[in-house]
Amino acid sequence: MNAPRQYSLNLEGVEREELPVDVLLVGAGPANLACAIHLQRLLQAQGITDKTVLVLEKAEEIGDHTLSGAVMNPRGMAELFPDWRERGCPVEADVGPDAMWWLSKTGATRFEGVLCPPQLKNHGNVIVSMNRVVAWMKDQAEAAGVQVYPGFPAAEILFDGDRVVGVQTRDAGIDKHGAKKDTYQPGMNVKAFVTVFGEGARGHLAKHLIRRLALDEGRNPQTYGTGIKEVWEVTPEIGAQWCAAASEVGAPRKGRVVHTGGYPLGMDGYGGSWIYGLPDNRLSLGYVVGLDHHDAKLDPHALFVQWKQHPEIQKLLVGGKVLRYGAKVVPEGGYFAMPKLQGEGFVLVGDAAGFLNASTLKGVHLSIKSGMLAAEAIAEALAANDTSGARLARYTELFEASWAREELWKIRNWRQAFDQGFLGGMIDAGVQMITGGRGLVARRKGHADHTTTRRVAESRMVKPVFDDARSMDKLTDVYHSGTIHEEDQPAHLLVLDTTICVERCTKEFGNPCQHFCPAAVYEWPKEGQPKGPIVNFSNCVHCKTCDIADPYENIEWVVPEGGGGPKYHGM
Ligand code: SF4
Repeated sequence: MNAPRQYSLNLEGVEREELPVDVLLVGAGPANLACAIHLQRLLQAQGITDKTVLVLEKAEEIGDHTLSGAVMNPRGMAELFPDWRERGCPVEADVGPDAMWWLSKTGATRFEGVLCPPQLKNHGNVIVSMNRVVAWMKDQAEAAGVQVYPGFPAAEILFDGDRVVGVQTRDAGIDKHGAKKDTYQPGMNVKAFVTVFGEGARGHLAKHLIRRLALDEGRNPQTYGTGIKEVWEVTPEIGAQWCAAASEVGAPRKGRVVHTGGYPLGMDGYGGSWIYGLPDNRLSLGYVVGLDHHDAKLDPHALFVQWKQHPEIQKLLVGGKVLRYGAKVVPEGGYFAMPKLQGEGFVLVGDAAGFLNASTLKGVHLSIKSGMLAAEAIAEALAANDTSGARLARYTELFEASWAREELWKIRNWRQAFDQGFLGGMIDAGVQMITGGRGLVARRKGHADHTTTRRVAESRMVKPVFDDARSMDKLTDVYHSGTIHEEDQPAHLLVLDTTICVERCTKEFGNPCQHFCPAAVYEWPKEGQPKGPIVNFSNCVHCKTCDIADPYENIEWVVPEGGGGPKYHGM
């Protein structure tokens, strides 16, 4: 057992049901569902029909915890299903006009057509709700014979030495003091010949696996950005400007795609925003900021609010209302920050392994491709009755020979170039474009995000004014995320040593958890109250920012009871 226990209850001797399967996939995102679908097809093509392929997902419904912008490059989906559109893969709109806006405090310089930076040109891509796409992929997986269990969070990895042999699912029915309730249900031990970790960015099991087996040895530290997203219903006039209706001859509707840089971050850190036109007078709005920002009061939600208060964005929102809210981290480190992709009895896929192109902010196509490549390696391993790390290394071989590697190699130094500041990063990015991704330095090194925070005395971040109409505070936004957790359970945010919070962090960093969490989970008591963080875990939208950004690595995100968390319907 590897991950820390979530409660103090002594569970030694608890009888657990054992569920043997052939291949276990942890997490029902695009990478794992693609892996399961492709694996099932490969096995069937070999006439193998007696293998069990099982997907476990912590959300109550498949897609509830899936959040993305999202403009999807269809390359991965089209490889998985050449007839993906005819099959009914949900698409909100094809990308129509696209542009990049550079925002000053009050105005915007527009880069359109040939002036739009190549990384932000999106012709041929589609605007999707990944919540809907993933739900559709789950139907395809089940039709192919894959078993999918939502509401089953994997709590711990089961090892035999250094070989992964499965996972233990989270116990249900433990009260907030760690005692069994009448409804207590012990988690299952799900045993498998191969376990596929596709839990998404900063997967809590993948994190422990990478550390225990030093899968990141010789790699750059992974670096993350936190993305904040809202879906808005805007006035019909604005809606018509951003998403044209489908034509009478059946041509798909076209949605506008705009990315912005500049205000409010300016040159002070890595980040920017998006505006995507959706049908039914809806807009997808979002802001991503790198967690290697030095400011101890970095607040991704506050930056998003300030961005919405910009006059050019306000014009879009007047008369509208927010429908949905969410937040998650994205792995931006690129090729040199990807861990070893496999070991004894396991592989890592998708965001959990860093399959994301940070220059275009796109990862769905790479995640799907990683899942398919892993499926090919697993199918060969099962056929050879050998699921050792050496045999599963075929996955890395396939990746190294694939277009996914080619794409990631071309941006191998992209994100780390911005460590020298935004302007220096832009210059290096320009050099990378003419040197095939090399840039000014052959291989840039990176920094773990939690090591980059400066002392609170140097903070310059200012908080926005909330008006509750277009600039909601965090709690109002959490309401729009649909987040619900069973309240009578142990907190799934473990503050490992509260004396660090009180005796060091307050003075040195000003308790940044109260700023960076986009769901107001962490509060700091007022004068006269006992000192120490107040953890409102039931607000948590599972973004994982705290697990990454705490300067002492003093916060550990573990899974709550099954089904708890956001409900990202239509996100
Ligand atoms: Fe994200 Fe952590 Fe806040 Fe949950 S508690 S919303 S994982 S920062």
